[in-house]
This record gives sequence, structure tokens and C-alpha cells, in this order.
Amino acid sequence: MLGISDKVLEVCSELILSEKHLNEVMERLRKEIVKGLSKETNETATVKCFPTYVRNLPNGKERGKFLALDLGGTNFRVLLIELGGDNREPTKFKMQSKIYAIPQNIMLGPGEALFDHIADCLATFIIENSMKREVLPLGFTFSFPLRQEGLTKARLVTWTKGFKCAGVENEDVVRLLKEAICRRGDVEIDVCAVLNDTTGTLMSCAWLNPNCRVGLIVGTGTNACYVEKLENVGLWDSDYNEPAKVIINTEWGAFGDNGVLDFILTDYDRDVDEQSINRGKQLYEKMISGMYMGEIARLILERLTKDGHLFNGQGSDNLYKRGNFFTKYISEIESDKPGEYQNCRQVLEELCLNYITDQDCKDVRYVCEVVSKRAAQMAAAGVACLLNKMGEKSVVVAVDGSVYRFHPHFHNLMTETINRLADPGIKFDLMLSEDGSGRGAALVAAVACHNRTGPGN
Ligand code: BGC
Ligand code: MG
Repeated sequence: MLGISDKVLEVCSELILSEKHLNEVMERLRKEIVKGLSKETNETATVKCFPTYVRNLPNGKERGKFLALDLGGTNFRVLLIELGGDNREPTKFKMQSKIYAIPQNIMLGPGEALFDHIADCLATFIIENSMKREVLPLGFTFSFPLRQEGLTKARLVTWTKGFKCAGVENEDVVRLLKEAICRRGDVEIDVCAVLNDTTGTLMSCAWLNPNCRVGLIVGTGTNACYVEKLENVGLWDSDYNEPAKVIINTEWGAFGDNGVLDFILTDYDRDVDEQSINRGKQLYEKMISGMYMGEIARLILERLTKDGHLFNGQGSDNLYKRGNFFTKYISEIESDKPGEYQNCRQVLEELCLNYITDQDCKDVRYVCEVVSKRAAQMAAAGVACLLNKMGEKSVVVAVDGSVYRFHPHFHNLMTETINRLADPGIKFDLMLSEDGSGRGAALVAAVACHNRTGPGN
């Protein structure tokens, strides 16, 4: 069997995290979370820890028909969900959904155009499904940092991922949605809740599993939420009735934005950050999530090729073009059986590379492994930090997102690492959550509608 080339090992070594690094990451994240939770330090904290106003987990008895909007992942979707009542079996809910594209000019244009587009897709969906006469409760999954003022009022703090629409930051996104629908005047809606995708993921899993306490996304972006005691939430401004807990949206993607991750950042991370539309922001997210992982790998491959250590020094315009090495390539390449390079060769051919030897394939795969392993371990350090903070004996972590879902080893890498980092005696399971952004939105809406007249709504 071939070994990895020395040069490749050398270049990749700075992306390998030691146990000491990971412990340090965990410890620093814990400090940032405590800063975010406390009233005195929240304003300057990077990890904002926003209270979501979602306090009741579902009990499996939620029923009814709901609309959901899902903005902020790979696709924008409109969904119609029917929750079936007493039965928690996943088969007992029905769902219909449609994916709509959000063109780049809308992602980067004026906010009004974005909300008009969302309202347009929603109206089309309602009309196509002959629901114009019904006014269904709607859950709005808006997967960006929101400072919530209640279940149906939330201001966007800052755009992340590929979005940057003018005039939305600091505004209440529920109001913007309602106004766009009013401008059309052809459909009516009843927004019951606005939520983050992590919250939806947690709720969707909690519906089936009462031990679920954490929601995690490793997709286009990354973030986690968890159940926290109200007494630890300095920002809490509502009642302390039972359940004296609330889901906290950590917005951990911004971890490192104050420099606390500089000790492990590489030139590749700095390059990805500099070329992004949100420079200096979401540094932890940029080490972990799907929007950036492929580009990190590409930068390493570019460097190795230009230095003559891959493809006989013969690169291609395609390999040297930003954004051209998709994160899904990493999943494909690592899905090859060890010693076989079918997917790897296909990817490299797509990039118009010639002179590909088995040694090149072996080395390319190693680069992918190092990048994805670092991402999985960083995410694992985050989860372990939350588990240790909560200190519960047995916790289910609900997970969703394209990277977690499609990367062949991400789950195992995360599980191994959390096992090493979590305090002794803590048991956990990482559970794939089926469509948190959709079903989760319906569940939050259901729990919210049920408590409509209650405080905090
Ligand atoms: C956003 C979070 C979101 C995460 C995963 C991040 O960029 O700030 O709100 O939960 O992506 O979609
Ligand atoms: Mg999603």
C-alpha cells in the first residue's frame, strides 16, 4: 500500500488538533457562553446565547395542520405539515413541501425584494394547494442570528452564510414578512412563531425522544441550541413559571470573532475569511461548515500543486478557481473504499486535472480527511462543552445539516471525540433529526398556538 507523501503530511500537520487544543477550545467556548448568558457582558460577547422563548418541549400530542417557511439553509422551502395527534411514530405526520430557488441577486439585494420573493413563493404554494380559504398557523424558520423579543418578534442581528440583504439587520423579520404578504393582498397567514433551525431540530427530535436537550446544525452554517435553566439566563425578561427552562440559541458560529481561536487558525482559514462577504465574523463556523470546508481543502490542494507535490505540478484553472471544490466532493472522495479511488478520480477529472496517479488520489483523500476531521472535532468540542455545562446524565443531541448527513464519517468522528471530551458519567447519543426546519417549525407553532394566551407569547 502507498503511504501519504511526506510533503503532504507536512503541509497538513497544522490542521491536526491535539487533545490539548481541543480541551482549550472547549474551555474557551464555555467562557464565551457564560459571557453571552450574563446580562452585564452580553452586549460585548461574541457567542450571544439568545433566549428563544421556546420553553415547552413537545409531548407527542400536538396535532393540526401548519405551514412552515424555511430560510437559511441550502434551499428555501415552503411546507405544509399535518401533525397526527397521540402517536409519536414518525409515520404519523404528513408533509408536503416545495423548494424554491433564491437567486444570488436576491441574497445580496434589498431586503424588501427578499421578503417579496418569500411571500410570492408562499402565496404560490397556498394557491397551488387550494388553501386560500384556510388561515393556517405558520412557523417561520429563519436560520440567522435573531435577538428574540418574544415568540413572534425577532430582530436580525447580522446576516451570515451567503446572505447580505440591505435594510434587514436590526429589523423584526416577522414584521417584514407580514408586510410583504400585505403588499400582495391575496393570501392571509397567521405567524405563530419564528425560530432558528437548531431549535426546530431539537423540537423535532424531542417529539420522539424526551431526553433530547441539544439541537445541532452542521450544514451550510453551524450552530447549536440547548435547554438552559432560567436562573442561568441573565437576559431573561419574562416570567419564571414552570418549566423554568428555555431553549438558548447559542449562535456559536461567531465563536472566535474576538481572537480566541487565533491559536489554531491556519493561513487557509485566514484566506477563507478574507475572501468571504462577512470578514472577521463567524470564524468557528468557517472552520466547520459546508459553505467553507471545500474551499479550505481547495486552498491546500492548490498550494500542494503549485509547489509541485501533486499532479506532477500541473494544475488547472478549475482547481485554482475559488469556490470550485465543493464540500460535497469531500464526502464523495471519503466515500471511496480504502485503496480505491473511483469517486476521487471522477472529482479530479471534473476539475480538468490530468496526470492523476494513485499517489495523487491517496494524497488528495488525505487532505480531505484532515479538513473534515478537524471540522468534526471542532463541532464535537462544542457539543462536549454544552454537555458538560448542562451536567445531565443522559442526553440526546439532535443533529441535522448537509455535512453531518452526507459526510460518511462525520457522525463517528464526532461521537469518538465527544466521548473523549465529555465529563465521565455523561452518556449521549447523536441522533439524526428528520427535517427539523420543517417539522420543528410546525411543532413550535403547535406548542405556541396552544399557549397563545400565556405570557411571553
Ligand atoms: C446562523 C445560525 C444557523 C446556522 C445553521 C449560522 O450561520 O447564524 O442562525 O442556525 O447558520 O444554519
Ligand atoms: Mg435546513
